[in-house]
Amino acid sequence: MVDDSELKEELSNLRRHFHENPELSDHEFETTKFLSGYLKKLGFKILTFPALKTGVVAEIGPDNSKGVVALRSDIDALPILEETGLDYASKNKGVMHACGHDFHMASLLGAAILFSENKAKLKNKIRLIFQPAEETHNGAQEVIDAGAVKDVKAIIGFHNKPDLKSGEVSILTGGQMAAVDEFNVFIQGKGTHAARPQLGSDPIIALTNIVNTLQTIVSRNEDPLKTTVLSVTHIEGGYTWNVIPEKTWFEGTVRTFSAEARAIAKQRFIDIVEGLSKALDVNAKINWIEGPEVVNNDRELTPLVVEETQKHFKLVDAEPSTAGEDFSFFTNKIPSVFAFIGSEGNSDWHHSDLIVKDDGLITAVKWYYYSALRIQKYFDK
Ligand SMILES: [Zn+2]
Ligand SMILES: [Zn+2]
Repeated sequence: MVDDSELKEELSNLRRHFHENPELSDHEFETTKFLSGYLKKLGFKILTFPALKTGVVAEIGPDNSKGVVALRSDIDALPILEETGLDYASKNKGVMHACGHDFHMASLLGAAILFSENKAKLKNKIRLIFQPAEETHNGAQEVIDAGAVKDVKAIIGFHNKPDLKSGEVSILTGGQMAAVDEFNVFIQGKGTHAARPQLGSDPIIALTNIVNTLQTIVSRNEDPLKTTVLSVTHIEGGYTWNVIPEKTWFEGTVRTFSAEARAIAKQRFIDIVEGLSKALDVNAKINWIEGPEVVNNDRELTPLVVEETQKHFKLVDAEPSTAGEDFSFFTNKIPSVFAFIGSEGNSDWHHSDLIVKDDGLITAVKWYYYSALRIQKYFDK
């Protein structure tokens, strides 16, 4: 039986291995090989799904047909040039585990060690899902489409949270992470000499008016007691000082925490862009790209997991995150619980200097382990 200090050392080694060898979404080939080799050695059965090119689905435990409990970790990294200066920094230049998915993988492998050692305690099957392509928001859907969760009765997962201390866990009932929408808008005006604006239709004036007015969606249309964020992050137009250009464009994102808020934001967005375009005599084309929905924790299972979490760890209040998570594709299909677990980072997700601490790994491992056993027990009753 592995003791805590041995386990901690193994977890730290595992995370450092993943951190050094990051791979981009849907290209996690070496990571996949490493994970399945490790799990095989622990006695897990690797389930094969031809549609899944990367990622690993593995199982352990008896089949008593009371429903499989699944545990999920994502495995992909980001196209970011690492600037941490760590001795185990990325060897794959321009690719970095800047979202802590290395932390997630090490934790789920740690849980695999505990499941394998305590196999006799399992009442039914435990399935581990090492999911590809979270950052591009298509991996969870790939896992679902491949048929890997067809018989899954509950699924749990977590995201490390750099602003929580090691050992801290936060679980919200309802919306834990935001629904994500992306937009881009192309504005076609009529170019002219800057000194004779009356002969054209200025797409810069149209763009700036639209961008300003879009902020009234958050301040005037959405419920002030519920969080909505709208950010325009990129604008382009024009090329010199004395010409009014033909066209401009901008892009950005909307984050909401309910289907209602999401619908309001989209409708008002369209109204504002179309209304102002008409008023300012330009044509606008909107591309609206729907991302993941809200990550919603299950009403029945969440209290059980919260109770179990309180027994072993420090449960803290944390704000919902306005970041998105493609775990929401699972929460829409299967009763789910998603947590935040402290990784005590120096910076935030997706930053090139993010360094997380290994101290929180043991909490994540045991959170997976105890939560899964608790849910199994509940289904077994
Ligand atoms: Zn991320
Ligand atoms: Zn992430």
